[in-house]
Amino acid sequence: MLKSLAHWAACKSPWVCHLNGSSCNGCDIEIVAAIMPRFDLERFGVLLQGSPRHADVLICTGGINRQMRDRVIRIYEQTPEPKFVLAVGTCAATGRPFYGDGCYNLLGGVDKVIPVHMYVPGCPPRPDAITYGVLKLLALLDPKVEKLVAEFQKTIPGIENLVEAGEKVGS
Ligand code: SF4
Repeated sequence: MLKSLAHWAACKSPWVCHLNGSSCNGCDIEIVAAIMPRFDLERFGVLLQGSPRHADVLICTGGINRQMRDRVIRIYEQTPEPKFVLAVGTCAATGRPFYGDGCYNLLGGVDKVIPVHMYVPGCPPRPDAITYGVLKLLALLDPKVEKLVAEFQKTIPGIENLVEAGEKVGS
């Protein structure tokens, strides 16, 4: 399985679809900045797609509320395999700052309902941290990307502390 995923990653530009669970739009604005020319995620072959059916990676923002729960699961199911999920922002990573203080409609972070492969916490996270999170995700699949990750770490000291790998659901 890993071998075929590595082959997939080596041959393909990753296409991403942005999914807003219940974000305040702060994280979404930083994702836009990451895709625009200054941070330029496209230089790594990353292309923003409007439909999950054409995407390899779901970039999720915002915690998951009761109204969005089934929609997020449906969008995840519509994304073809192999698929990956990047949780951007503290809301998407944990549901906080709103979850847990008597908020009646929030279920928590994205991993309450679908698997998450990489977390980029922050409120909101910086565009370079989002870019780094995408690269770390790609490096899991294609060892060649590790070189880019190492260059990023050299250029922006401490950036590795802003991203966390994981795969969990329903915690
Ligand atoms: S993490 Fe912060 S900026 Fe991002 S959606 Fe939540 S409250 Fe907004």
